[in-house]
Order: sequence, then structure tokens, then C-alpha cells
Amino acid sequence: MTGIIKWTTWMQNTNSDLLHLTNLLLRLSLRRFDKGRIYTFIGEVVVSVNPYKNLNIYGRDMIEQYKGRELYERPPHLFAIADAAYKAMKRRSKDTCIVISGESGAGKTEASKYIMQYIAAITNPSQRAEIERVKNMLLKSNCVLEAFGNAKTNRNDNSSRFGKYMDINFDFKGDPIGGHINNYLLEKCSINDGAEFKAVADAMKVIGFKPEEIQTVYKILAAILHLGNLKFSVDSDTPVIENGKVVSVIADLLSTKSDMVEKALLFRTVATGRDVIDKQHTEQEATYGRDAFAKAIYERLFCWIVTHINDIIEVKNYDTTIHGKNTVIGVLDIYGFEIFDNNSFEQFCINYCNEKLQQLFIQLVLKQEQEEYQREGIPWNHIDYFNNQIIVDLVEQQHKGIIAILDDACMNVGKVTDEMFLEALNNKLGKHAHFSSRKLCATDKILEFDRDFRIKHYAGDVIYSVTGFIDKNKDTLFQDFKRLMYNSSNPVLKMMWPEGKLSITEVTKRPLTAATLFKNSMIALVDNLASKEPYYVRCIKPNEKKSSQLFDEERCRHQVEYLGLLENVRVRRAGFAYRQTYEKFLHRYKMVSEFTWPNHDLSSDKEAVKKLIECCGFQHDVAYGKTKIFIRTPRTLFTLEELHAK
Ligand code: ATP
Ligand code: MG
Repeated sequence: MTGIIKWTTWMQNTNSDLLHLTNLLLRLSLRRFDKGRIYTFIGEVVVSVNPYKNLNIYGRDMIEQYKGRELYERPPHLFAIADAAYKAMKRRSKDTCIVISGESGAGKTEASKYIMQYIAAITNPSQRAEIERVKNMLLKSNCVLEAFGNAKTNRNDNSSRFGKYMDINFDFKGDPIGGHINNYLLEKCSINDGAEFKAVADAMKVIGFKPEEIQTVYKILAAILHLGNLKFSVDSDTPVIENGKVVSVIADLLSTKSDMVEKALLFRTVATGRDVIDKQHTEQEATYGRDAFAKAIYERLFCWIVTHINDIIEVKNYDTTIHGKNTVIGVLDIYGFEIFDNNSFEQFCINYCNEKLQQLFIQLVLKQEQEEYQREGIPWNHIDYFNNQIIVDLVEQQHKGIIAILDDACMNVGKVTDEMFLEALNNKLGKHAHFSSRKLCATDKILEFDRDFRIKHYAGDVIYSVTGFIDKNKDTLFQDFKRLMYNSSNPVLKMMWPEGKLSITEVTKRPLTAATLFKNSMIALVDNLASKEPYYVRCIKPNEKKSSQLFDEERCRHQVEYLGLLENVRVRRAGFAYRQTYEKFLHRYKMVSEFTWPNHDLSSDKEAVKKLIECCGFQHDVAYGKTKIFIRTPRTLFTLEELHAK
């Protein structure tokens, strides 16, 4: 509980500046981390520091301690947030969501698993086998998705290279009845660990994949690996495949013919007026095509698996007129802000996503607070905060934003280079307060390494290299590959490539670019989250060495800043940490005052609560709403808890 007390002490000191605040949060986290207390509350936000060792804090006994309790009644824990989200959903029939963010290796995926485990454990275990089935499906599908969406990186042995949003649906009694998963796959990696795949295949079987489907998954993965071994050489200026045998293996695995695979790799069909011709690739184009093909097969496979899982876990036969409202808890496990030495298109997308989530956080927390205060008739003080909408606009605004400019560059007929894109950015955004590029800054000469631009993010400045932006955004896959796959005799593969049905003369529409697809999915995600009551988990990675002993202050300081924790505190500081109806408050704490224990003779519960608070000397830390008491600092509540326990 010390996490709250120390924190509160600071919160009362309204003159402290943000630097002090950061230092305090760091010192507090350090001290708690040393003692294995990895969670701290800031309002309803749980800050979590990755312990890098197994802690005995997720067992059945812990679950029991948090079940049904109010947020500040127990020490900070993920279970407290999970319980708050569950209670709000069950008691008030509200859709809720838990947003988990942090950098790679900070512990997001682990946190999401503990939250799911908690929710599964507190729902009704009796009678119905169906509930067990749904819970099992949700947990097992997590395992399958991790296997396909994760990769071993320097920063995390089990890094999720995608964002995952999972809805868990509940019936009116609060029991899970199904779910739905959405993915934001960013990097298309390939799994190559055979032993691990065996476990995944078993999990797929349990979820309900048919043996022939699992077989197809094996084959597709093998085909991807073989594609990686395929080599081109040049013979009289045209590319040829060096190791022809690999082609027939690939053709076999993908249930198509060798000559068709070879043709798709070396030629592309183009329509010129009324004629259709086969145009020979250059070696560079052939290599590009091969890699794009491998990535695309992987991506389709991943999406197919997700769709398949969704088919199996979605809510079926739920009639709201008979069974009452079906409510949802959403869990979002999403990559946090990334700043590397070399930042590219992927970091640009990730950081844009974090700007969107920060914007949502600002809107929701402020809006929610404001609405509640209005409802309860408590005066609202304006909060001064940095509104990052200007940066969101810089990236996503139609016609004017960076994505629109990038798409424009990609639409141009002819060869567009990354430099031309940078030039367009400079021309259109040169005067924007949150955009700059070194080219703009270089006064007398343009240096060779001027291939980057800088965005002043809410979390700090990030320099992005434009190299690869055009290619990654176009993400072009020659139509020939789509037709090749559509004509496969394997029905699963065929199903994954429906647009391969179109002949070259029928393909008129350009596919949406990668950035636009990502933008659309982010807008949909934020709209979805905005309709729910949010809870937040902010994960901090204490060091780069995966050590349970090291607390690297500089790294943590950086994360505290960009996770928006300071903004959290400022909002919280202006408001109240805890609120409860008079009736429930009295029910829990009436024994701390002789005026309210065992019963009170005051005119209302509100009057009784007032008396109780005055008895304890907390009148300066509370406000009385129409139906609820509001307590500014958690320390007051904590002291009440201690009195209650005596
Ligand atoms: P990425 O963005 O790369 O997916 P992440 O934030 O999801 O990263 P995790 O995979 O959840 O990170 O955590 C990285 C590792 O840290 C885990 O494999 C585990 O070893 C350790 N870890 C994280 N949280 C905990 C915890 N609560 N208890 C013990 N170990 C943990
Ligand atoms: Mg992860």
C-alpha cells in the first residue's frame, strides 16, 4: 500500500513541477521494485514494472483477495483493475476495456494473460461446461496467436509483433459466452521452431481446426521457408532461377504447378490497351516479388487463422430478448511508443497509434470525470494539459497529413523515390510546429544523409528515416501471385486469395496502401474503445538486460514521460481518486464512528457519511455529491480501511 501513500503525499503538494513528479514516481517505483512490489496506482491506472522473475502473486489466494473488492481496498495489482472492469460491466451493464501499453519487453502480453486468467477464474465455475469451453478457447487461441504473431527479438524473447484486441462477451449473469479478436499485424515474420510448432498444432486441434487445415498450415510455413532459399541469377540480362528443384517443392506444398510458380516469379502480366502481355522481370523485380510473395502468404495465413478462431469463439445463439444484454470487456495489448537509433515506417505507424491512444485517454478520462462531476453537482476545475490532437492531425488528416502525402507519392505513375516523398513533406509541412527535417534546417548545403524527418511527438522527438517508406507503404504484390494462389487445388489456400479470381483486365482498383489500412484500423479501434469504459495498465521495462535486479533510472524516466503518466497524474490531481455511493460507503465504514455504528439516527445516509468523515477529520479531503462521496486522495481511504480493520 505504500505506493499509494507516498504518491498521495506528493499529490497534495500542488506546487511541485513535473520534474519532481517524475523523480518521485521513479524513486517510488524503484523502492517498490526492490521489494518485489511491481504495481503502483495512479488513480485508476496501474503502473507495472517488469520484475523479470516469477513472483508468487497470481495464485488462487490472491484472486480471492481481489474478488469483488473496491479499487483501493487492496494493494495495487493487475487483479484490482481486472476486477474493477468486471464489476462495472456486471453491475452497471457497461462495456469496459483494459488498455495495456508499454515498450517491447515491458510485460504487456504477460499482463493481458493474467487479466484473462483472473476474469476466467472469477466467473461462475459451477454447472455449465459451456463456460469452461469458452474460457479454454480464449486462452488456447491466445497461445496460437502468440506462436504466429511473435518473434524472438533483441528486446524480447517472445515479442508480439502485432497489436491484439480481444473482446470477451458476457451474458447478463456475467458469465463468458464468447469472444472476438482483432489484430494489427505489423511485421511479417516466419516461425521456424519445429518443436514449438508441435505444441501450437495441438492447441489448434483443441480449438477446432481440422487435421487437413493444420496440415495446410504446416505446408504454407514450409513453402515460405523454401521461398527464402530460392535464388536468382542473370543469364543474358534476364533473371533465371538457380535452384529449380526448390520451385517444384514450393509448387507441391502450395498445390499448384511448377511452371506456374516459375512464371509468377519471373514474369508479370500487364494489360496494355486491349493487349495482355507477359513482361519479364529484372533480377531486382524478381527478388522483390519473391519476398513480397513470402510475406503476403504469411499475412494471409495469419489473418485466416484469426478469422477461423473468431468463427469458433464468436457468440452464437444469444437472443437478447430472452437472455438480456450481452456485455463486453475488451483487452488491448498494443505496442507502446518506440524510439530506436534508426526509426522507419514501422515505428512511424506504432507511434501514430500511440498518439491516437493518448488522444483517447485524454478525451475519455477528462470527459468521464467531467460528466460524473456534473451529474453529482460538484464544481469542475479546468485542467491544463497538452492536447496532442495537432500531432494526430499531422499524421492522419485527409489531403494534408503525412499519410495522405505518402499515398500521393505512391500513386504517382513512374518511379517515385523516398527522396521525392521527403521533398513533398518538406513542401507541404515545412511550417508545421511538430514537423521538421534536417534538409529544412541545413541552410547552405544539402547533405547526403538528409533522408529523414522529425516529428515532435507528445512523448518526445523522433527522427524517422524515409528509406523504404514508399516500398513498405505500397506493399505491392504482383497480381500474378494472387491468381497463382487462387488457382491452387488446396481449398484453404484458394479461400485465402479471393481476389485472384479477377483476370488482369478486370483489376481496376488499386489496393489500399499499408499506411491507409493501418490508419483505418486505428480509427476503428479508437471508435470501439471510445464506446467503452476504459481502464489502463502502463508497463515499464526496468532495464535492457532482462535482469530482476537492475532498475535503470534513465530508461525508466524516459518511459514515465512517454507513457503519459505525468498527464495521468495531472488529471487525477485535479479530481478525486475515489467515489462511492453513500449507502455502500456507510455499509463498509460505519463501524469507525460511534455516530454511525451500529445504526445512525441522522436524516439520510448522506448526513451520516458527513458525520463519519468529520469524526475522522477528513472533511478537507472530500466533496459531497448528490448520491456519492468523493475522496480526493487514496490515503484517506487507506486510513479508513485501517480503522475498519481494527
Ligand atoms: P512485446 O511488445 O515485445 O510483445 P511485451 O510488453 O508483450 O513485449 P512480455 O512478452 O509480456 O512483453 O514480457 C517479456 C518478458 O518479461 C516475459 O517473457 C517474462 O519473462 C517477463 N515478464 C513480464 N511480466 C512479468 C511478470 N508479471 N512476472 C514475471 N515475469 C514477467
Ligand atoms: Mg507482447
